[in-house]
Amino acid sequence: MKRPKPAPKRCPHCGRQYVPYIRAAKTQKSCGRAACRKRRQRQAYKSWRAKNPGYFRGRYIKVKHWLAAHPDYQRVYRAGNPGYAVANNAGQRRRRKKLKRFRTDIQNGLFRRKIAQIQDIGMTDIQNGLIQKVDGLLGLLSG
Ligand SMILES: [Zn+2]
Repeated sequence: MKRPKPAPKRCPHCGRQYVPYIRAAKTQKSCGRAACRKRRQRQAYKSWRAKNPGYFRGRYIKVKHWLAAHPDYQRVYRAGNPGYAVANNAGQRRRRKKLKRFRTDIQNGLFRRKIAQIQDIGMTDIQNGLIQKVDGLLGLLSG
């Protein structure tokens, strides 16, 4: 007896039609192309992390103790997996750049807020208002 062929589905990533693997016909979410499977896996990780927000928090203490008990583990691993170190360094560079951009945004935001405060100084008494504005500017410029 011939098995029934599963109905074709449309891949949400590339938009092509595909016939799902017969055993996974009900659950298969993307076509078999490597790029689509990778994208679907990323989505799955992302939604899992959103559903389990605290899962990776507070892990470093445990990792630190484990690494102290296994001092050569990372050196041996990196020697056996040279591609890992290259990818990790690239990721670290990307994360540092992102963090730096984030910090710059915060600093620029603080600067703009202080300027807005100085601009909001009322000028009912012109001389007093001017003195307050100059004091504010001098305070801002001196850090
Ligand atoms: Zn696809």
